[in-house]
Order: sequence, then structure tokens, then C-alpha cells
Amino acid sequence: MQEQSFSISGTDKLRLNVLGDLLCDRLDELIQKLDIKLKMYHREAIGKCEIHNGNNPKAISIYQDGERLRGFWQCRTRHCEQSFGKTVIGFVRAILTSKKYGWPNDDNKKFPFWQTVKWCSNFVGVKFSDLKLDLDNFDKNAFISNVNSLTKKKAMNPIVFFQKKNSEIVWKFPLCIS
Ligand SMILES: [Zn+2]
Repeated sequence: MQEQSFSISGTDKLRLNVLGDLLCDRLDELIQKLDIKLKMYHREAIGKCEIHNGNNPKAISIYQDGERLRGFWQCRTRHCEQSFGKTVIGFVRAILTSKKYGWPNDDNKKFPFWQTVKWCSNFVGVKFSDLKLDLDNFDKNAFISNVNSLTKKKAMNPIVFFQKKNSEIVWKFPLCIS
């Protein structure tokens, strides 16, 4: 069964980035609230994947820091992140799905995306529509990540970069909502 696809406005994508940042600030508390057994090692949460209920003690990593990696996670055994999106909000959705329906389940039924967002907003104590958007900071982050990329791969033409700047900021939040 497929969920209906829906679009998310640019403003809401920025809010999702802010929400993800707030979740990362309180990652250890978030792990407790979700009632899972990941442990923090040097700003990285590691443990069994309780989404697909695996045994590998180092299957899951969530990264608390990093320009691109902040809040990103992966399941090394079954790549559960590919089903839910690799952001911290995707991670919360994966855990809530697993607790409610099991994962994988027969219909690939997932905890609804916007209910996950609401759960996360409740956790950080700020209504989603009230999240403060720091556009200067997003511009700065987009610039820094582009500069960082100069040392790693072929640099983007600066003119193309500035043309793409806005879409780059929105692109930063790779949603997996299907
Ligand atoms: Zn997994």
C-alpha cells in the first residue's frame, strides 16, 4: 500500500531543519524518550537496530555533529534509513513505526509523517508553526558546506552555486515521505 504523496513548502522544510537541529541538541534525552538502548560515544549514538529488531550491537549510528551529517543515521544491517529518510526526524518516525506496527510489516505501514513532526515538536516544546527560522544561519551553512566540498570533490561553479543557493538550502533536508 502506498501513501499519498504530498508536497512540503520551502518554509516548512526550513522549519524541519530547525526542528532536526533542536532534536540533535538533545539527542541523549530523545533516545531516553523513545525508550531505546542506543549509547552515546563521542557525539555518536550507537546500538542495535530496534527498528527491524536486529542483533548487531553496532548496527545503528546517529551523528550528532557535522555540517551534512548532523542528525543523519544509518542501519548498517538492513538500511532501515532508506525507508524513512536519513534525518533525525526520519529516525524518530522509524522508531515510532516499529513500536506501533513492527518493521517491516505486511503493508509497509508507517507512522504518519506529520504526526511524527508533531511528536517531535511536543518533545522540544515548541509548536511547529512557531519554530524560529534563522535564514542567515542557513545561508552560512550552505556556504560552509560548499566550501568544504571544495576539498573533497570537484567544486561547483560559484555562479551556479549562488543561483542554486535557495534550492540548496531546501535540498539540505532529504525527506523520505513516501
Ligand atoms: Zn535496521
